[in-house]
Amino acid sequence: MVPCDVIRDLLPLYHDEVCSTESRRLVEEHLEQCEDCKNELNSMDGQFPARPVQSGEKEAANAASRAWKKGTRRAFRKGAVLAAAVLLAVLLLAAGGILYVRNMPVERDAGACGGGYATFIFDKYSQELTRKFVNGSMDEADIVNAQAVRGTQEAAWEGRTIFLEFDIRYEHTEWGTVTERVRFVGQRIWFDTYDWSGAISEWTER
Ligand SMILES: [Zn+2]
Repeated sequence: MVPCDVIRDLLPLYHDEVCSTESRRLVEEHLEQCEDCKNELNSMDGQFPARPVQSGEKEAANAASRAWKKGTRRAFRKGAVLAAAVLLAVLLLAAGGILYVRNMPVERDAGACGGGYATFIFDKYSQELTRKFVNGSMDEADIVNAQAVRGTQEAAWEGRTIFLEFDIRYEHTEWGTVTERVRFVGQRIWFDTYDWSGAISEWTER
């Protein structure tokens, strides 16, 4: 006869009906002769009462499952709405920030600039503006070697508009050396950044 210890090891498998045919045969043979092991098996039955699920319970379980899924969907939708709102807020803030910076008066830039703002802007833009001046001139073909004269720069501003003045010296094929005082008009579009719309020639010295 198989020892009880071995049968006790097999009993849980037997109870759950997952042991091999050979093991089941051994267990059943043993149980016919051993009351103790039979009792052990019966006590296992008591631990997990196997009974069919009531239809009412099944419906309740389904309803709970549906509610949970619905809750999850609702939570997900809430999350998506929240994320969209945050994104929108960030975009609005960024757009507002950009607009705010763009519309700041020139004074702010000039105030933040330690040295002379006219010189700072002259250094940044004089070459570009001189080129613009020559390109926009009716005498373009006659102008040679145009140069911004350093040290002659002056600047004034009002709101977002800046006026930068300096002398441009060039060789004119007919008139010889010309020094022209030019005032450029710019609109502030970013930190120390201007969009130059036009130039006014103040006076000409030949
Ligand atoms: Zn036994």
